[in-house]
Amino acid sequence: MTAPDYTESPPQRQAFSPAPAFAEPTPQTAVRFLKGIGPARATSLERLGIRNVADALLLMPRRYEDRRGFALLGRLRPGQSASVLGRVRSVGTGRTRRGIPYCEILLEDASGTLPVRWYRQPYLARTFPRGTRVILTGRLSPCPPRQMVNPEYEIDDSDEGRCHSGRIVPVYPLTAGLGQRFLRRLLFDLAHAVAHHLADPLPAPLREALGLLPLGAAVRALHAPADEGETVSARRRLVFDEFFLFNLVMLRQRAIRSAHPGIAFATPGGLADRACAALPFALTGAQRRVLEAVWNDMAVARPMHRMLQGDVGSGKTIVAFLAALTAVDNGYQAVVMAPTEILAAQHAERLRALADPLGVPVVHLGGGTGGAARRQALARLQGDEPCVAVGTHALIESDVSFGRLGFVVVDEQHRFGVLQRSVLQAKAAHPDVLVMSATPIPRSLALVLYGDLDLSVIDELPPGRRPVATIWIQSGERQRIAAELLARLSRGERGYVVCPVVEGAAAEMRAAVQTADTYRRGPLGRFGVGLVHGRLSSAEKLETLTAFRDGRVRLLVATTVVEVGLDVPEAGVMVIEHADRLGLAQLHQLRGRVGRAGQAAHCFVVADREEIGPEAQARLEAFVRERDGFALAEADLRQRGPGEFFGTRQAGLDGFQVGSLTGDLRVLEEARAAAAAALRDHPDLDGPWAAVRAAMEARWTARLELGRIG
Ligand code: ADP
Ligand code: MG
Repeated sequence: MTAPDYTESPPQRQAFSPAPAFAEPTPQTAVRFLKGIGPARATSLERLGIRNVADALLLMPRRYEDRRGFALLGRLRPGQSASVLGRVRSVGTGRTRRGIPYCEILLEDASGTLPVRWYRQPYLARTFPRGTRVILTGRLSPCPPRQMVNPEYEIDDSDEGRCHSGRIVPVYPLTAGLGQRFLRRLLFDLAHAVAHHLADPLPAPLREALGLLPLGAAVRALHAPADEGETVSARRRLVFDEFFLFNLVMLRQRAIRSAHPGIAFATPGGLADRACAALPFALTGAQRRVLEAVWNDMAVARPMHRMLQGDVGSGKTIVAFLAALTAVDNGYQAVVMAPTEILAAQHAERLRALADPLGVPVVHLGGGTGGAARRQALARLQGDEPCVAVGTHALIESDVSFGRLGFVVVDEQHRFGVLQRSVLQAKAAHPDVLVMSATPIPRSLALVLYGDLDLSVIDELPPGRRPVATIWIQSGERQRIAAELLARLSRGERGYVVCPVVEGAAAEMRAAVQTADTYRRGPLGRFGVGLVHGRLSSAEKLETLTAFRDGRVRLLVATTVVEVGLDVPEAGVMVIEHADRLGLAQLHQLRGRVGRAGQAAHCFVVADREEIGPEAQARLEAFVRERDGFALAEADLRQRGPGEFFGTRQAGLDGFQVGSLTGDLRVLEEARAAAAAALRDHPDLDGPWAAVRAAMEARWTARLELGRIG
């Protein structure tokens, strides 16, 4: 990299250094001790997270403006934005008819002249005595009179570096009480005077191997780039630092956990083999590959912490079940946790079908399990008889204790993050843990949210799956939906109608009730119409869902309660009302509920094009076009950003100040690999890594602790 290194060119540095203004500040100098910064500005700077000079130097420009070239005054076109350099021919002040004071100058260069006005700043007249060379950056009025109004200005004093023009100029995020010119001057001066004093925590060999700028040069380039290339390499260095430190925290967490002794299971074991042989299908190549990885982890006497990702319908559940059976085969208890009661019940039913013929007990601890049944189940889990226990996440957070827990499956609603998982550790002496993500997550997000886990991806759907035909329906075309539902239900298939409403649970319920009534009174009534919404008890929901699965009810009207993960193979059609109200991830989850037996399935999304905003239109267009869950998740992430994507604030996710989870995946991967290599060489981050360790602790440790408590 070719960035000038200021440590080696003191004369240049002196030329730029604005002498007494910042008499020898160091990175640790508090900004309030800098000349020109009083208590008010210090408070404003603190709002940007800036307390000392080092903080200030790490303030990222929002963008850059190329102000290297000067336009000729005589050639400026109306409306054109430009930097110009000229001499003040005359200067004066005046007032508009409404009494607003202004300063006016006439600027000239070899090509012509230009009148320039600054309103409400008549005192500027003193700044521009006749003959002064000034650089202005602004826009020529689009309509007559020909003039420039309120441009940024800079006196072209060759003793001082050009800060606001004649270069690529950074534009900073602002906060009340801080002007762009002030911040730019401050950082320009600090970048030249102090940046080279910043201690670089990265060992030089790593930096060189990755072609990263030294920290001082990067920071100097960030605020005073010589060219566009420097802005890119400066940013890359700072993004790398941020991701590198984060990955070190995550991977260290993982390393500390794996240092505990775990269980060395004999794998795969006869039970899993027999279960596999009894399946009505063969595992896909991807399922087998992932299962092997899980079994390899299980065989080692270290606690496993693996994340299993896969698109909707890729068959994650069976992989988890087979691994659980391996644990049982070894004489241990396994737990399968689901995000909702309905999914727990579904898992219990599926597991029983698999486990009963093998004589493996399945204990379902539902929210409604009470009295003697619950006591009996609890006693069983407390004992040391091998079995599989199924329930919601409450299973591990409540009074339940396990006698011989060896394996845990966490079927996550994606909002469970890095932190909640640690609760598990309290329940057993380091069981193996397999986390399943309920929804496809872009790789960048997975690396952050699940950065402390090993990642496996099932990247293949079971054979014979046909893409669900997805059709956007305007309300005038509902006839098509009615016809499709009639055809399918009379063949014995099942259908869903989802009615999402945003205004709150009560309205959501009413809309669903009304829709269900309409269908019941119509020609589809004879096929049985069920209704589930958030106001029903789990038992009531379960009863309706059972009827739906059995076929006594063939049409299910629901609010978005039709969760992630519901698996009714006979369902061939999904109708999503008000589809504009849902995000891409949710839409894709709903579509994933149909066509699960390989039948040609339909998904209708209902929304009137004229009534929805451009973002919702773009979303629905993407949904109709794109079938791949990971691609949709990427699009969702780009459109809504990581915070929205998860609906919750996640420690880590909202902690990145520089790096972008949508644009910096390459750097994220580099940083992760570098962090893994560093920890391999120096697990305690000592020796050459001591400075990195200190930076990591300063940046992340407190934040993650806070997240854990909150
Ligand atoms: P998801 O990954 O969305 O959780 P599931 O595990 O619920 O998917 O599986 C979806 C459906 O596909 C289930 O009905 C399951 O029985 C079936 N399935 C899983 N693996 C295969 C396979 N290899 N071949 C055929 N069907 C499969
Ligand atoms: Mg599932």
